[in-house]
Amino acid sequence: TFISLFIGLLISLSINLYIDKKRSLEKRLLDAVNKNRLHLVYQPIYHLKKNEIIGVEALLRWKDPDIGFISPDIFIPLAEAKGLMTQITQLVTRKAIHDTRELVRKHNLYISINISSHDLCSTDYLLFLQHAITDAQFPASNLILEITERQGANTNSLKEMVERFKLSGFNIAIDDFGTGYSNLNWLSHLSIDEIKIDKSITDSIETDSLNKVLLPNLINLLKDMHPTVVFEGIEKQAQVDYLLAHFPNALGQGWFFSKARELSEIQELLSQNGNEENAPIPRVV
Ligand code: C2E
Ligand code: MG
Ligand code: MG
Ligand code: MG
Repeated sequence: TFISLFIGLLISLSINLYIDKKRSLEKRLLDAVNKNRLHLVYQPIYHLKKNEIIGVEALLRWKDPDIGFISPDIFIPLAEAKGLMTQITQLVTRKAIHDTRELVRKHNLYISINISSHDLCSTDYLLFLQHAITDAQFPASNLILEITERQGANTNSLKEMVERFKLSGFNIAIDDFGTGYSNLNWLSHLSIDEIKIDKSITDSIETDSLNKVLLPNLINLLKDMHPTVVFEGIEKQAQVDYLLAHFPNALGQGWFFSKARELSEIQELLSQNGNEENAPIPRVV
C-alpha cells in the first residue's frame, strides 16, 4: 500500500508537471503572437518537367527565446484549441502578401498559404483577404489557400464558401491528400484548383509495392480531374524519375529540391531560375 501510494503520488506529480508545461507553452505562444515574434519561411515548388520554381509555400516558424524552435505540428493545434487561429491566419496572410508582392510582380509566382477550414468558412476572413490584396495590389489569382481534407470533410457550407473565394479570384488547394478520409467523390463536387499529395504517398513511390499498383490509378484519376497536382515531401531522385515518367506535368516540393528558406534566399534562387537550358536542380541538404 505504501508503494501504490507512492506511485500514485508520482503519477499525479507528473500529470501536474505536464499540465504546467502545457500552460506555459500556451502563454508563450500568446506572447509570441502578440509581440509579432512568429516568422515565415518559404519552400519552393517546382514544375517537374520544366525544372523551374513556379511557386512557394509560406510556412510558420516559432522560436521561443528559452525553449528554441517549436514545430508547427505542435503549436498550430495548440493555437486552434486556444482560439488563436484567426489572429495567426491574419498575421500569416498579411505578412506573406507583403513579403512576396515584388516577387509575384517580377516572376509571376504562386504563393500558397495554409489556412484552417474555420477561416475558409468565415466571411470575415474573405473580407480581410480582399482588403489585404487590394492594399498590396496583389493579384488574387496568384494566391493559393491550402486547406486539409480532414478539416473540411463534414462541412456542407464548405462548398458554398469555396465558391465565394473562387468568385473573388482566389485558388483553393486540398493539402495532405491521402491522409484523411480520402473521398474522391466528395472532392469531385468541389471546384478545387490544386491537390497536394501527402508525403506518405510520395514516400511509397519508392518503397511500397502495393502502391505500385494503386499509384498509377490515382495518377490517372487525377489527370482526369484536371486539378494542379503537387507531390509533397520529395526527397529522392528515384521519386522524381518515377513522376517524370508517369506524371511529368505534376509539381513537386521537398527537401530534394529545397527546404523552406528565408525570403532573401528565395529571391536569390529565383534570379537563377531557368537561366540555362540544362541548369542543375538546386539542392540543399
Ligand atoms: P504542410 O502544409 O503539409 O507543410 C509541409 C510540411 O512538410 C512542412 O513542415 C515542410 O517543412 C515539410 N516538408 C517539406 N518537404 C519535406 C521533405 O522533403 N521531407 C520532410 N520530412 N518534410 C518536408 P512544417 O513547416 O513543420 O509544417 C507542418 C505543418 O504545419 C504544415 O503542413 C501545416 O499543416 C502546418 N502549418 C505550417 N505553417 C502554417 C501556417 O502558417 N498556418 C497554418 N494554419 N498551418 C501551418
Ligand atoms: Mg501546406
Ligand atoms: Mg501538406
Ligand atoms: Mg502537413
